Amino acid sequence: MADECDAVVVGSGPNGLAAAITLARAGCSVLVCEANSTIGGGARSAELTLPGFLHDVCSAVHPLAAGSPFFKALPLERFGLEWIQPDIPLAHPLDDGSAACLHRDVDLTADRLSGDSQRYRWLMKPLARDWEKLADEFLQPMLHLPRHPVALARFGAFAICPATFLTKTLFRHEPARALFAGIAAHSFLPLEAPGSSAFALVLGFAGHAVGWPVPRRGAQQIANALAAYLHELGGKIEVNRRVDSLDDLPTTRVILLDVSVWQFLRIAGHRLPSRYRRRLESFRHAAGIFKIDYALSSPIPWKAEACRRAGTIHLGGRIDEIAAAERDAFRGNIPERPFVLVAQQSLFDETRAPLGQHTLWAYCHVPFNCKLDVSDRIESQIERFAPGFRDCVIARHKMGAADLEKSNSNLAGGDISGGAADLMQLIARPTLSPTPYRTPIRGVYLCSSSTPPGGGVHGMCGYHAARAALREVFGKR
Ligand SMILES: Cc1cc2nc3c(=O)[nH]c(=O)nc-3n(C[C@H](O)[C@H](O)[C@H](O)COP(=O)(O)OP(=O)(O)OC[C@H]3O[C@@H](n4cnc5c(N)ncnc54)[C@H](O)[C@@H]3O)c2cc1C
Repeated sequence: MADECDAVVVGSGPNGLAAAITLARAGCSVLVCEANSTIGGGARSAELTLPGFLHDVCSAVHPLAAGSPFFKALPLERFGLEWIQPDIPLAHPLDDGSAACLHRDVDLTADRLSGDSQRYRWLMKPLARDWEKLADEFLQPMLHLPRHPVALARFGAFAICPATFLTKTLFRHEPARALFAGIAAHSFLPLEAPGSSAFALVLGFAGHAVGWPVPRRGAQQIANALAAYLHELGGKIEVNRRVDSLDDLPTTRVILLDVSVWQFLRIAGHRLPSRYRRRLESFRHAAGIFKIDYALSSPIPWKAEACRRAGTIHLGGRIDEIAAAERDAFRGNIPERPFVLVAQQSLFDETRAPLGQHTLWAYCHVPFNCKLDVSDRIESQIERFAPGFRDCVIARHKMGAADLEKSNSNLAGGDISGGAADLMQLIARPTLSPTPYRTPIRGVYLCSSSTPPGGGVHGMCGYHAARAALREVFGKR
């Protein structure tokens, strides 16, 4: 049978779309097969609570998308993508009514962390200055020849440290420690784990270099802009087309799978050599999440004034408390006071809610495959820093592990990272290779966040996987 297209991409998440665009730009005919009725995977928006309230189903805040070398090279603004920068990217309230803040400006951030100003500046200023160089280095497989060895070595020396160690060695006071610990908790690792500092550094200096922006009209706009550009390049997308076996696909030279390692095992495990299959079977999940979206009658009555101007708020209090909550979730215990991430997009984007009303996006870290409804614990954490919050709630939409998996098979067990991002699995993601996207099945590549550089909306897994396919199958550099 003749090839029906040069390449098929399974899944229309940011990485699937990035892979499809990379192939289409190289002149390949591409078909994207998406299981859901809507495109976007982890970059979707919907009226989850009430009509007129537009919620981000998964991703909300996008330093990695705004700083992605691949996305930056695409004409996404032409297709409607518009970034909004909140007044303050991130606020971290403390029990005394104050808040530590990550501002766009390194000096302003440092100046407000009194007692730790010099150390913060010393740590972050060179990293923020080197964003372009460093993004180039860490948004690709770890096994590569660095193009910017000096910048990478400085970053690596700090990044490898456990977050608790780096934070407590460097900073003397709680605001700086709590701020850094909250950002490190994005790793889903215990903060005592080697490499947990990497997340705090990357997201921290991304905040300075590119901000923590939200897209006008929701994360769906990222996927829509990518899809519109793909269509312009001649690519096609079919929704409601779930792929359960590689035999379901049309004849093609290349298949790129925007699916997790565990889905890949289900779809094609029987065709994999046993050594490779065993390696994938031993790939570890990250902890899970429990998410709630709220429709609110008014803005949240935060005690700390800075929180009223911030796009993202980290709720967990002091560093030791955050470390304990993350340790619990990692070890399979449900934290009594979980670390909660909150985004209040409607404060900066009037398209998200009816006039005067608001949306709130919140999730906390829980053990993998947690079955418990932890809404009360999330709301207690919000109330702790914003007394009266519950009185503002008009409607709630909750998503536990089972709901997340139902909405996207890649999110089984509530793992939103495509597998744990510990040091070992960052280096070997999912296998130790300079081209970890290639699978032992000829012409089949993995391109999801289970490959480097891992989770987040940045498209770089898809871009690198497609580049590998172009090189190896089509002989294109
Ligand atoms: C609640 C939540 C909050 C998040 N917050 C942020 C954030 O604020 N910022 C950020 O940068 N990142 C965030 N993320 C992470 C981010 O969404 C993911 O890392 C990113 O979307 C991964 O992209 P991907 O293309 O690899 O996979 P996905 O986005 O998961 O896309 C995979 C696509 O493939 C489809 N698919 C899966 N299996 C099949 C199949 N068998 N056949 C056909 N189609 C299939 C799925 O339906 C889905 O559309 C969040 C994720 C979640 C769930």
